[in-house]
Amino acid sequence: MTFVSPMPSREFLWDVFQRVDKDRSGAISADELQQALSNGTWTPFNPETVRLMIGMFDKNQSGTVSFEEFGALWKYVTDWQNCFRSFDSDNSGNIDKHELKTALTNFGYRLSDNIVEMLVRKYDRLGQGTIYFDDFIQCCIVLYTLTSAFRKYDTDQDGIITIHYEQFLSMVFSLKI
Ligand code: MG
Ligand code: MG
Ligand code: MG
Repeated sequence: MTFVSPMPSREFLWDVFQRVDKDRSGAISADELQQALSNGTWTPFNPETVRLMIGMFDKNQSGTVSFEEFGALWKYVTDWQNCFRSFDSDNSGNIDKHELKTALTNFGYRLSDNIVEMLVRKYDRLGQGTIYFDDFIQCCIVLYTLTSAFRKYDTDQDGIITIHYEQFLSMVFSLKI
């Protein structure tokens, strides 16, 4: 399953960029991005997800996203929206544990029900037993980052690693999550 949206025209992106760049600074800050994004509820978009996304697309480490960097960010958010909608099979606007399990299985993870339930508890910011769009993105980015770090040590890919204390610390502290 793929969620690849076509890249819109430069004119369209410029129009969106100018509306998001509320202070007309020519760059999008974390606050501006947070205000522009919706999680489908009246609560503010998860600031951790915003931080992860700015970090991903801010190529020159300015802490903001320029217009040149914005196209890739726009596409990323749109692809996540399509992905989220397709796995929200009951159209409830959120993802329950069964929908999350289906999504993660589709992404190639093999996780027990216990772990999936733990993820729902961890990323369920509203305490409703379900995950909204912004928390779903955070959950997937963190899971991906942790899995990649584990795989670097699991060279024989048997799902088991043996590491020393300091290797563990350097693995965990070098993670960008
Ligand atoms: Mg700005
Ligand atoms: Mg649902
Ligand atoms: Mg191994």
